[in-house]
Amino acid sequence: MMKKIEHIGIAVNDLEVSNLVFEKLFGAPAYKFEEVESEGVTTSFFKNGPNKIELLAATNPDSPIAKFLAKKGEGIHHIAFEVEDIVLEIARLKSEGFVVLNEAPKMGADNKWVAFLHPKSTNGVLIELCQEIK
Ligand code: ZN
Repeated sequence: MMKKIEHIGIAVNDLEVSNLVFEKLFGAPAYKFEEVESEGVTTSFFKNGPNKIELLAATNPDSPIAKFLAKKGEGIHHIAFEVEDIVLEIARLKSEGFVVLNEAPKMGADNKWVAFLHPKSTNGVLIELCQEIK
């Protein structure tokens, strides 16, 4: 089952510029920077109380983030939910008719297994499932 919103992902054109914006917003710098080469993204993570924000910028023009930015511009890219057991959750959501983009979980940023649901099956919102790698 889904436990809570783990983080909200925001697509940005320039990570350096946006890091400064969010640093000012929260009064604290990003606590983590990570590049996910397989996804063509570079990320930074901010904490605000119990909540987390992930900024994502593209590292190459074929990156899904580059395509998102070209189509929609900067803004909320996905909502990530923490799940108890990502393999079971993928199976459950598939059986409920959701379009799962990853049949098997893959390694994401921030030490997590991740899988995405296609926004066409979730009213236009890209949903990320994530489970901490232990
Ligand atoms: Zn995410």
